[in-house]
Amino acid sequence: MPQVYIGRCRSYEQAGVDAAIRQAVAALGGIERFVQPGQRIMLKPNLLLLKGPETAICTHPAIVQAVAAMVREAGAVPLIADSSGGGTSHNPRSLRSLYRISGMEQAAAASGAELNMDCEGLEVPCPEGGLVKMLDVMRPATQVDAIINLPKLKTHGLLRYTGAVKNLFGLVPGRVKLGYHTKLQDAARFSEMLLDIVLWARPALTIMDAIVGMDGDGPSAGRPKEMGLILAGEDCTALDLAALDIIGMDPATVPTMRAALSRGLTSGRAADLEILGERLGDVRVPDFDAPSHGSFDVTLIPPGIRRWLTNQFVARPHASGRCTGCGVCAENCPVGAISVENRRARMDLGHCIRCYCCHELCPQHAVELKRPPLVKLITRA
Ligand code: SF4
Ligand code: SF4
Repeated sequence: MPQVYIGRCRSYEQAGVDAAIRQAVAALGGIERFVQPGQRIMLKPNLLLLKGPETAICTHPAIVQAVAAMVREAGAVPLIADSSGGGTSHNPRSLRSLYRISGMEQAAAASGAELNMDCEGLEVPCPEGGLVKMLDVMRPATQVDAIINLPKLKTHGLLRYTGAVKNLFGLVPGRVKLGYHTKLQDAARFSEMLLDIVLWARPALTIMDAIVGMDGDGPSAGRPKEMGLILAGEDCTALDLAALDIIGMDPATVPTMRAALSRGLTSGRAADLEILGERLGDVRVPDFDAPSHGSFDVTLIPPGIRRWLTNQFVARPHASGRCTGCGVCAENCPVGAISVENRRARMDLGHCIRCYCCHELCPQHAVELKRPPLVKLITRA
């Protein structure tokens, strides 16, 4: 029975976070179970955008600092590293801005962690992969002894939810991610690939920042949601299952969970988890909002009419009046479906594959996901 620890932590005040993380790791058997003296340990937060901790987009630096300090005390060297797709990890200069704005620079200084400056990627075999047998990963991930996964609990446009499993997509270098979106256009196949990354990375430990998560239109344009929780465990799928139970999202509606279920990696039932710390029934967040545009698995549509029906049924990206014409979405659209005209992004819906990278990466939160008129008519919403 996979173990998941759930602990309360009401704010990001450092002493409280330190105590909560220590309690979590102790409940799971102590840091020496996961980290050996002399090892190099990658700490993998979610550093999606150049945004500060108050936006709840990135893993909070207090969490990273607390974990890094424990890794140092265990005699190992912590390395903070992520490679987001939005142009923030392409070169040491952009990385320095990312670390400064996200608070990682301060977390590293306070804990003695190193900040990764290596932007290169490598192709590595993934023999256990169910879908992907060769993976592109950031080079530092191949040079450490273990990875500690530090996701943020948020909603997600394509996958409805992002947590332990999805956070490891950040190991794929920056814009190499676009190729994965192009090749694996539907959420089901994309989720299979994410599980392959988990199998390759095998994080020693995952500690999830759910002190303030994000609901609504995450992972960047949603609403910071105070939850006051830290989740921890070794099994990414189990951790996500517990998180979904807490936020009241049916695992059957989450593509990564459906993929894990079909591979036999989870039963899909939170009752099958061994919960340590707080009980699930005591920490549920009843008013956690799912993404407003709903979800629809395009693989359920016959291939011959998929494009037409996708346009009728699947939420469409649209640049709102907040658009500044910066072009980040156009640079990151995997199929080149975005142009910027008169300082406003235009999405070519005939070519759009509904990956929602534009929604995820827009620094102005200007990309809205609109339900097509037919869906509005059917659902009367
Ligand atoms: S939609 Fe967002 S990312 Fe795209 S051009 Fe407008 S502001 Fe920039
Ligand atoms: S327009 Fe947006 S949702 Fe459509 S393919 Fe491009 S990045 Fe993905």
